[in-house]
Amino acid sequence: MAPLTFYNSLTRTAEAFRPIDPADVRLYSCGPTVYHYAHLGNLRAYVFTDTLARVLRWRGYPLTHVINITDVGHLTSDADAGDDKMEARARDTGQDIWAIASHYTAAFKRNLDDLNIRPPAHFPLATDHIAEMIAFGETIEAAHCYRLDSGLYFDVSTVPDYGRLARARDDHGETRIDPVAGKRHPQDFAIWRTSAAGENRQMEWDSPWGRGAPGWHLECSVMSRKYLGAAFDIHTGGIDHREIHHPNEIAQNQAFCGCPDTGATFWMHNNFLVDRTGKMAKSSGEFLTLQAVIDRGVHPLAYRLMCLQAHYRSEMEFSWEGLAAAAVRLKRLAHAVAGLRDRPAGPPGAGAAAYRERLDAAVSDDLATPRALPVLDELLADKTVSPADRVAALTDFDAVLGLDLATLRREDLRVRPAGAMLGEADVASRLAERREARAAKDFARSDAIRLALADGGVEVMDGDPLGWDWRL
Ligand code: AMP
Ligand code: ZN
Repeated sequence: MAPLTFYNSLTRTAEAFRPIDPADVRLYSCGPTVYHYAHLGNLRAYVFTDTLARVLRWRGYPLTHVINITDVGHLTSDADAGDDKMEARARDTGQDIWAIASHYTAAFKRNLDDLNIRPPAHFPLATDHIAEMIAFGETIEAAHCYRLDSGLYFDVSTVPDYGRLARARDDHGETRIDPVAGKRHPQDFAIWRTSAAGENRQMEWDSPWGRGAPGWHLECSVMSRKYLGAAFDIHTGGIDHREIHHPNEIAQNQAFCGCPDTGATFWMHNNFLVDRTGKMAKSSGEFLTLQAVIDRGVHPLAYRLMCLQAHYRSEMEFSWEGLAAAAVRLKRLAHAVAGLRDRPAGPPGAGAAAYRERLDAAVSDDLATPRALPVLDELLADKTVSPADRVAALTDFDAVLGLDLATLRREDLRVRPAGAMLGEADVASRLAERREARAAKDFARSDAIRLALADGGVEVMDGDPLGWDWRL
C-alpha cells in the first residue's frame, strides 16, 4: 500500500501518519453548535472527517471517532465576546433552549445519515460534562488562570508557544481585539463565564467562579481527553478553528498536563465552502441546508460527490449549477454500474487490482479524492476488466468514497422536489398508457399524455442516454 500521509496544520507540512496505537486510532472532530440547522459548509467539515475515517478504516486501522455536540458556550463572536449562540436563539424564538438543542442535534444526525457519513463511536454533549469541565478548570486555575468579575480567564502567556498552530503572534495579532475589560492579553479566553447580575440565562450552573456557564473551548479539551485520552492521533475542524478555538484547546491541554504536548499529534482542517450570495451565513435568515438541496429534487449524495470533487484543503465555491453537475455525474455512475450488472457473466478478464492501487495512492496522499474519482470512471469503462470484477471493485471505492454505488439504484436518485404534484404511481400508469398509444400508432393520444404530464411537472424523456423514462 502507498505511504499514508496527512497535512498537519501544526507543522504546515504533509507528514507520514503513524498511529499512537495501531489497534485503536483515535480521532476527535469539533462538532456542530446546535442552535440552528447545519449549513452546507458545516456539512463539508463532516464529509471531510468521514472521508478521513473511511480511509483509516480501509487501510486497516480500527478507529474510535468522537464528534461532540456544542449545546452551550459558543459565542456569536470567536473573539470571546457577544452572546451565547444557544441563549440568543432561545431568546429570539421564545423556545426552550433544551428543546432547541435536541431538535437541531437530531436534524444534524439526519444530515449525516443522508450524506452517508458513518456515525462516530461517541456524540458527547457539552452539557453532560459540566462537572468535568469545572474540575478541569479547578486543576489549571492556580498556575494558568485569573479571575475577573466576568469569570475565570486563561492567561495565554503561561504556556509555551501559545498560538503556534495559528501562527497568530505576528500575522493576526492585531485582529484579536480584546472586548473584555481587565484581560491581561487580548488572546486570553474564558474558562468560565460568570453570569452578570440580571442576566437571564436558561442554561446556568454553580461553580467556584459563580453561577454561569463554561467557555466554549473547554468542552473539547475535556471531552477529547475523556473519550480518547490525553494523547490521541487526529483532531479535526474547519479552517476557522485553526486560528482561535484549537490554539485555545492546545493551551488548555498543555496547562492540564503541565507539559508541552498539544493533545493530538495531527491537527487537520478543512477549507471553507463559500457562496457569493451570502447564503452560508446562518444570520442571513435563509441559508443553504441539506434539506433545501433535497427539496429541490437533488439527491443528498450529489452534495457528497461535489465535496469529493474538491480537495478538502481547497476552498470550494457553492453553486446550484455545480451541484446539478455533480448530480448528473452521480447518475452517470449509477447508470454505468446498472449496465455492468445487467451484463451476462463473460469470460474472466484482467482483475481490477491496479485500480485498487491507484485508489489507494490517491487517497493515501492527504485524501486526494479529486484524483480518486477519475480512477473510478476509468474502472467502470475498462472493457479489459470483466463486468463482475468491475462491480466487485466498487466495494473498495464505496468503502472510501461513501457513494454507495454498489447498492444505489438509479430510481433512488430521483428525489421528489418539495413542490412535486404527481405521485410515482400516477406517472407510471400514464407512461404505460402512452406506450400503448404509441404501439397503436395513436400519436395524438401519446402527445396529449406527454403534455398532460408536463403540466404536472414531469418531463417524458424518450431515448435518454442514461436510460431515464422521465424526470421531475
Ligand atoms: P459550528 O456549528 O459553527 O460550530 O461549525 C461546525 C463545523 O463547521 C466546524 O468545524 C467549522 O469550522 C465548520 N465550518 C463552518 N463554516 C464552514 C464553511 N463555510 N465551510 C466549511 N466548514 C465550515
Ligand atoms: Zn472543538
